[in-house]
Amino acid sequence: MRFSPVAEIRRSALHHNIARLRAMAPNSKLMAVVKANAYGHGLVKLASWMDQVDGFGLARIEEALALRESGNRARLVLMEGVFSEADLEQAAQHKLDVVVHDEQQVRLIEQAKLSQPITIWLKVDSGMHRLGVMPADFQRLYGRLCEAAQVAQPINLMTHFASADEQDNPETQRQTDRFESLTAGLPGERTLCNSAGTLTQSGAHQQWVRPGLALYGANPMVGGRAADFDLQPVMTMRSKVLAVRALAAGEPVGYGNTWRTDKDTRIAVVAMGYGDGYPRHAVSGTPVLINGQRYPLVGRVSMDMITVEVGQAPVQVGDDAVLWGQGLPVEEIAECADTIAYELLCSTTARVQYHYI
Ligand code: PLP
Repeated sequence: MRFSPVAEIRRSALHHNIARLRAMAPNSKLMAVVKANAYGHGLVKLASWMDQVDGFGLARIEEALALRESGNRARLVLMEGVFSEADLEQAAQHKLDVVVHDEQQVRLIEQAKLSQPITIWLKVDSGMHRLGVMPADFQRLYGRLCEAAQVAQPINLMTHFASADEQDNPETQRQTDRFESLTAGLPGERTLCNSAGTLTQSGAHQQWVRPGLALYGANPMVGGRAADFDLQPVMTMRSKVLAVRALAAGEPVGYGNTWRTDKDTRIAVVAMGYGDGYPRHAVSGTPVLINGQRYPLVGRVSMDMITVEVGQAPVQVGDDAVLWGQGLPVEEIAECADTIAYELLCSTTARVQYHYI
């Protein structure tokens, strides 16, 4: 028996989530966001399971080239764009759509000698102030891109929400209005919505929605759970109990002796630590499923192990543990560690094995 964590990745859950997102945005095309190794699920494998989407969103050119090398011929969108003529030419040759979000990139395109025109998405900063051209610069830069022989026309348009995960935050509607008024009447396709937008902003779906997290079966809304939108977790992080200790009342557990038993009890040691991607800041009380029952993590998270109070339950060495996924929402574990589901899913380390089922 092996005592190492396994990330079980379920195709049926992914397909279920895609169907749910399609049902929620029935008139939009679906750009599946698969950056950061498909949110830790495995880029090439997951993309190969997504024949039914209309394109993929990636952050960086290396990710898109890996997909092309795997034989993926779908529409690929580089959401951070490119920063050199060599990468621009690679994008042209591999038919990668490129997001343009600042004037330097416009200049790069104007000066480039490309073997064929590239498809671009001009990104507008409608209020997030991370990437995107400012509204005041939009007309001028749009005009230059319309004139550039290097650009396939029409130009597509996008923006990104800062707070769509906060139900009723008025800033999301303000961003939508700013984007709509700036781009009104222009040809080309539009996209605004990440997962939260896809799930809650039906008025902003436009021609393309760009969900990431929801595809993987997690709810991006603050305090939300996948079940709220009938999404299913694609990743279930599993491991095993590698030791069980009986302790008297008043005994400390783990590094720093930060937690003590308050009664005679038993501690199950589970083979999963921050060296596997379990969040080190998970607090005592974070739930762990052992044999399908919830028990509290106690004491500090170690590199290879966590300690879980199982009391007098018949837990034994070799028993199954679930750290998040089926039966244990990743959103809940993230909350217990003061982080977000995105980070947990992306943080699994190389020593975790992946089982695709
Ligand atoms: N679009 C852009 C530009 C992004 O950066 C991201 C991810 O952060 C997404 C879409 C997908 O976001 P989410 O995973 O919240 O659906």
